[in-house]
Amino acid sequence: METDTIINAAQNPALANELAAKAMTSQDPVVASSILKTNTMPPPDTTVELLGGLRDPFLGVISTAEIRELNGIDEELISKINDPGKALLTILERATVKIGDEPADKETLDSLYAGDRELLLLAIRNVTFGTEIKLGPGECPSCGVEQVFEIDLVKDVPLKKLEGDHTFTVKCKVGDVVVTLPTGSTQKAIVTSTNKTSAELDTILLKNCIESINDVPVFSLDDVRKLSLKDRRDILQEITNRNPGPQLSEIKIPCQSCGTEVPLPLTLAELFR
Ligand SMILES: [Zn+2]
Repeated sequence: METDTIINAAQNPALANELAAKAMTSQDPVVASSILKTNTMPPPDTTVELLGGLRDPFLGVISTAEIRELNGIDEELISKINDPGKALLTILERATVKIGDEPADKETLDSLYAGDRELLLLAIRNVTFGTEIKLGPGECPSCGVEQVFEIDLVKDVPLKKLEGDHTFTVKCKVGDVVVTLPTGSTQKAIVTSTNKTSAELDTILLKNCIESINDVPVFSLDDVRKLSLKDRRDILQEITNRNPGPQLSEIKIPCQSCGTEVPLPLTLAELFR
């Protein structure tokens, strides 16, 4: 296997696609081969410390949530959903029990950061199937030694906390663009848009995240279509840089033979397969 095969697979897919957590057929044979489930560890806690949190006008920032293990009723329901993005939405809505001290309702879930929703899904996965997965056998891109890579979804997934404000200004060619980080509603808008290209999904994402361009509020998809390609890319990059959440695309495991860190990017959809 060539080194650049793995590096390419580790690169971020289009941000919108990532937010939708679509199942992607990985180019990486290590990931593409079946994920062997092992569940020997005691189930992790069902309390989740949110990475972005939820601003409540009365309570301040709510920073915890509670999830539960999936059961057979969930499994039957999920098995009827063909679209991986929609299946993940259903899992999240069914298995998130509380946000703060209140029962989780759809409205609250939709106002959570996309990254916190991904964190909840990861916790639901861990409490249901265990935190350890094995990938492979696959070859180390550096020394070529074939091995099974063991990932601990608690220890090995980097978690990015929200830093700074959820609303920020990006200096673009067009001028000042005020942007807010994607939430559950943004994620839903993307997941429910079927048969769209990456560029079209980016337009939906941008329309949901851009508050104003040079102080003029953004109302329509056309407002963000008129932005230059470079401005759109710069804004998407800035959103990626600031987005809190589990960084599943950045998982790296040291080779058992030579110690080189091998990138083993995963998607949420792959974790529920
Ligand atoms: Zn190696």
